[in-house]
Amino acid sequence: MRARPAREPAAERPVARLAIDVSLPHLDRSFDYLVTEAQSEAAVAGVRCRVRFAGQLVDAIVLDRVDASEHEGRLSFVERVLGSEPVLTPEIAALAREVAGRWAGSLADVVRLAVPPRHAAAEKLVRRPPQDPPPPPDLDALDRYDGGAAVLSELATGTPRRSWTMLPGPWPDELATAVRAAAAAGRGVVTVVPDARDVARLDAAFNTALGPGRHVALTADLGPAERYRRFLAVSRGEVRVVVGTRAAIWAPVHDLGLLVVWDDGDDLLAEPRAPYPNVRDIAILRAHRANAGLLLAGHAMTAEVAQLVESQWAGTLEPSQAARRRDLPQVRATGDDDALADDAAARAARLPTLAWRAAREGLEAGPVLIQVPRRGYQPGLACAACRNPAHCRHCGGPLARPAADRPPVCRWCGVVATDWRCATCGKPDLRAVIVGVRRTAEEFGRAFAGVPVRTSGGGAVLDQVDDRPALVLSTPGAEPVATGGYAAAVLLDGWMLLSRPDLRAGEEALRRWLAAAALVRGGGKVVVVAPGELRPVQALLRWQPRWHAERELDERRTLHLPPAGRMAALTGSRRAVDDLIAALDLPPGAEVLGPVPALARPAGAEDGEASERMLIRVPRSQGAELAIAVKIALAGRSARKAPGAVRVELDPAVLG
Ligand SMILES: [Zn+2]
Ligand SMILES: [Zn+2]
Repeated sequence: MRARPAREPAAERPVARLAIDVSLPHLDRSFDYLVTEAQSEAAVAGVRCRVRFAGQLVDAIVLDRVDASEHEGRLSFVERVLGSEPVLTPEIAALAREVAGRWAGSLADVVRLAVPPRHAAAEKLVRRPPQDPPPPPDLDALDRYDGGAAVLSELATGTPRRSWTMLPGPWPDELATAVRAAAAAGRGVVTVVPDARDVARLDAAFNTALGPGRHVALTADLGPAERYRRFLAVSRGEVRVVVGTRAAIWAPVHDLGLLVVWDDGDDLLAEPRAPYPNVRDIAILRAHRANAGLLLAGHAMTAEVAQLVESQWAGTLEPSQAARRRDLPQVRATGDDDALADDAAARAARLPTLAWRAAREGLEAGPVLIQVPRRGYQPGLACAACRNPAHCRHCGGPLARPAADRPPVCRWCGVVATDWRCATCGKPDLRAVIVGVRRTAEEFGRAFAGVPVRTSGGGAVLDQVDDRPALVLSTPGAEPVATGGYAAAVLLDGWMLLSRPDLRAGEEALRRWLAAAALVRGGGKVVVVAPGELRPVQALLRWQPRWHAERELDERRTLHLPPAGRMAALTGSRRAVDDLIAALDLPPGAEVLGPVPALARPAGAEDGEASERMLIRVPRSQGAELAIAVKIALAGRSARKAPGAVRVELDPAVLG
């Protein structure tokens, strides 16, 4: 056996504190290794390396270099330093640790979300000098909003935090104007949007507003080499403005001055990988840490943002009265029981008179949007008298019927609703939601003979349609932009959206409607087929997203639901979930709800075992304690190699 040549630690700060890429909860801490003199220059904070850990070679990132270790025993040496590119800045490392704590996850999991995989060739690219800032925008560029000019000035020098309720019209241009105001002052900006279509629209708007080369777009579909090249342009400080999907919230822009999140209620902004953090909430933490501005912009508004406004952490940026009169469509509601159109073909397509007329008149002036919700939602239950969604009397959760002949059951606590009474009107009868009628494109075609019918949704999403009259059928979220705005829109089967047994069903329905209605020209007609007395429908008719979010927040507070309370959802086999619950040292105000059958099986669940879900609910003030308790219990399970996986989500975006 030949001995390896003895390695000597570096003369200065020989200990490297590392974040190791191992996500076992009981190993979630930093580890100290030694670096040699030869490695010392490259092994700076943020650089990747390889180390031997529990007998295997694993990836790690240097968090810090220190003189001596606080740990007992002999330290191992770092095997290899990979390049010299700091990919995890101290700001992002600290944010990642905070996010891991907030969502009861491990640092390794969060770092994997934050730092893209290495692509060595991209690191060899020649460094470019940083881009000059663009010229500032005109201060009257946001004059559709009260106080728009003040916000633009503040973006250059201060840290404005606003809930920005945007009008129909060119939101990408307006966001680009705000970004330009911050970028012109030399500040870094991170803008995050739900999907690649939104990135494409902002990419074009940023090119115009900032000039070419002053920003990069980061999306998951770029491919690893290009994605890493763009990431390096940001981490090296060559480019200071980023627009991208979910992971872009972690972009290490230099001199961060502004974070922008568009449409924070979209569940695409909720991370589907552990520990399932949400972009809006990461943005709030990051703005706070970096002392940066934050714009939470959208046509809709979430209860979470209403809470930020209520606590005065954020202000509002609202449309002026004059702009509302000019740029909003006229919205009307019609019940699905109302008279159907007096026309055989329109009857066949189940179109209420009001909807049919709006579409007919609209088609004389341009394209008409018809929003048709997708099938496949589990139908919920509503009050037969007032049609408000039915809540469990025990926990406030949504009611659903597991099968047509079974009594209604709470989706959260599992209690059978035997003596249910409506919380709004006091009546005792439930009504199952009609699972809409299936209408086909052919039926619409016959109802509007001679008009071209185009469809968008599922596998075939249209980005844009021109100004010629056409009927555009789309599922929610897939609506193409009409170049000159739609002449009218009809939002069908509102029930399907409103009655999903989910915490956010009302908020989500309104968000989908506002997004579609915002594509209609100022003064154009919008008809929503849904009961006009329900709150989300009222908010659409009056175009008052803030009013809706405030009412929603009040109601959630009464029921101790997020964001007024904190919830943890634990999903896994009964054995694994029970084991985790038994190990939890819960704060005194905690309430445990369930178990109920889980709708989806968690990854890593063992075959042959049914999945179930339990919920833990605590007052908001105990949210941090809940996260710590869950993390300790998970670490205990991990240390004793307890069988079965449990998926833990804090304040999940979808809570059905
Ligand atoms: Zn009722
Ligand atoms: Zn319940």
